[in-house]
Amino acid sequence: MDYQSILEKIYREILPFAGQGEQAGYIPALQRVNPDQYGMCLQTVDGCSFSCMKADTRFSIQSIAKVFALAMGLSLRGEGLWTRVGKEPSGTAFNSLVQLEIEKGIPRNPFINAGAIVVADVLMSELKNPEEEFLSFVRALCGDDSINYNLEVANSEREVGYLNAAIANLLKYHGTIKNEIEPLLMFYFKMCSVEMSCKELARAFLPFTNRKRFAYAGYTLSISQIKRLNAVMQTCGFYDEAGEFSYLVGLPGKSGVGGGIVAIYPMRYSVAVWSPRLNSKGNSVMGMKALELLTTYTEESIF
Ligand code: GLN
Repeated sequence: MDYQSILEKIYREILPFAGQGEQAGYIPALQRVNPDQYGMCLQTVDGCSFSCMKADTRFSIQSIAKVFALAMGLSLRGEGLWTRVGKEPSGTAFNSLVQLEIEKGIPRNPFINAGAIVVADVLMSELKNPEEEFLSFVRALCGDDSINYNLEVANSEREVGYLNAAIANLLKYHGTIKNEIEPLLMFYFKMCSVEMSCKELARAFLPFTNRKRFAYAGYTLSISQIKRLNAVMQTCGFYDEAGEFSYLVGLPGKSGVGGGIVAIYPMRYSVAVWSPRLNSKGNSVMGMKALELLTTYTEESIF
């Protein structure tokens, strides 16, 4: 498959969408990012890498970090993880409060904010140094020790993080989280603030793609656990647009409000795309389009 030509053809074809949408305005530090950027990188399980445009530019991975946190949580707690968080699509926005109240403080899944805050709570309870451990895990997945938190982004989100604070308070009221709200929120915001490029993200997701032994920085997952992680990405990775992404792209994936999207084609490749302008659901406009064209032109998807 000539992935290089396909990535270039995709870029040419999505250019008409380049001005659509806005970058995440509710996090002041992200609003300062130049919205008119685009990068894509596809890496195959047999070691080939294909890039287009700004595939080496680092950006805020935001909710893509929730996949790494879930992998650590599954490794530490196994199926026990699911007593405090569900695995059903929410059909609601990533930061919605309504469902959480009706369902008595048990978040629908680990990829909406409420669920990811619960997973962060589990990591805080299990680990002596959760912030260092999280970074070590991501660095090991990607094989790059320069990956780091962006404290300006994390602090900026904390300053205006009223909605996430409300979610954390509701979780605390229902006893779903055990740690203190303030340090827990800061840990969650730091995870979201990690910066990676498309190339680094594609590399970091290869271990969820290739069904080889999974052991990184002391965290292990079985093939069956990796299957489950991918299943949750497929059903819940795009909040109230999970059905749309499944329909258009046909791969498990995860988005973030930094404009990044990662998707994997099991046993074949992982792919990351980034462009900061988002649609109304908080997913990258050009990113969604690029992945739709990728599986259309290659005629490869899990369906
Ligand atoms: N840090 C963001 C938030 O909590 C992550 C949301 C996202 O990327 N969808 O709002």
